Amino acid sequence: MTDQLEGGCQCGELRYRVQGEPSYVALCHCADCRKATGAPVSAFVAFMADAVTFSGQSPRTYSEGPVSRSFCATCGSPIAYVDARIGDQIFFLLGAMDAPELYKPTLHAYVREQLPFLHMPDGLPRHLKSSVPRPEDGTDQ
Ligand SMILES: [Zn+2]
Ligand SMILES: [Zn+2]
Repeated sequence: MTDQLEGGCQCGELRYRVQGEPSYVALCHCADCRKATGAPVSAFVAFMADAVTFSGQSPRTYSEGPVSRSFCATCGSPIAYVDARIGDQIFFLLGAMDAPELYKPTLHAYVREQLPFLHMPDGLPRHLKSSVPRPEDGTDQ
């Protein structure tokens, strides 16, 4: 994989660059992601926050609890989320990456909220809730 890769919003005013390997690539079926993206399932690729550089327009953010989601103020494209409990990583929407085909998801998260008509028989591990340990709820399965 190339050492340095880029991504951005649909209109191109918000851009970012990431360095190194992703720390996490996953599909999320939770209702929050569904509302935030409008898609039946969301895919995320995470990088350590100190390996990310934003350029162009600053992202707008919307926060709910410890989770803050960013989007382009001009075209509205969802870009990423950060979770204050695991704030050392930025979780980009896979589709915001310029080369999303490079990031193959490794698991499904929140399958207990998966839409009943959505079938993805890919053999990947399926977590009922979150797959990322968070200090105060420690959820998994
Ligand atoms: Zn934009
Ligand atoms: Zn989610």
